[in-house]
Amino acid sequence: MKPGSVAIVGAGPGDPELITIKAMLRIQEADVILYDRLVNEGLLSYAKPETLRIYCGKSPGHHSMPQERIEQLMIQYAADGNKVVRLKGGDPFVFGRGGEEALAMAEAGISYEVIPGITSAIGAAASAGIPLTHRGLAASFAIVTGSRCHGHESPVRWDRLVNSVDTIAIYMGISQFSDIREQLLLHGKKGTTPVAVIENGTTSRQRTVTGTLNNMEKLLAVMNISNPALIIIGEVVKVREQLLSLESEARSQIG
Ligand code: SAH
Repeated sequence: MKPGSVAIVGAGPGDPELITIKAMLRIQEADVILYDRLVNEGLLSYAKPETLRIYCGKSPGHHSMPQERIEQLMIQYAADGNKVVRLKGGDPFVFGRGGEEALAMAEAGISYEVIPGITSAIGAAASAGIPLTHRGLAASFAIVTGSRCHGHESPVRWDRLVNSVDTIAIYMGISQFSDIREQLLLHGKKGTTPVAVIENGTTSRQRTVTGTLNNMEKLLAVMNISNPALIIIGEVVKVREQLLSLESEARSQIG
């Protein structure tokens, strides 16, 4: 029996064309694909018809497959000689539990590789016209989680972040926006700091809302913005407005 293997693969941020060639090759060769909720399902059509496709994400009203179960399946299918692809949204090592899966494969003695993907902060920023760094405005950016942002158990040191990084991209933060805002203001950000929220970034359903720390919560409610969405905080958000106004100027000159 030929030995099986596992590829822990980043599918990119939503637009299926943003996947890497290497990731696409692994999908085409796969015997089994275990995929997450945020993966664009169109990508599965590139697999062989007989490829086993296993959904691991949460469906409304149901729990997602427990992480241990996913890892068990990856090990089991690979040990049976299959080429297994573990397909995840964005990049597997950015809030994707890819590290845990790599550790589980290594521990089980399964041959594995990790294929990076465009993480949603990079993808959404590009399609919203927001450069994460920009000469004169931002020389650094950080990717942080907005979940459990309140109180002592917060995995993010907001005090240090606010005072050391120019652009902050926050994942999993939409439902926590008011707590995040509170942390940022508490540690010295101004209420007038520009904020963008990008929902369904890089897809045809993308919506982008821009405002400030002061008014964003209201805007999110009015626009009914929900997950998946990314929050970008910092002066670079203004570049989007600049791009948009230059584009509309150019259009009006043509027209
Ligand atoms: N590994 C993924 C992140 C998974 S955590 C990556 O690298 O992108 C899930 C969070 O990612 C969501 O709560 C949201 O904040 C963000 N996200 C994923 N896809 C997104 C998209 N298309 N647009 C905006 N945010 C997205």
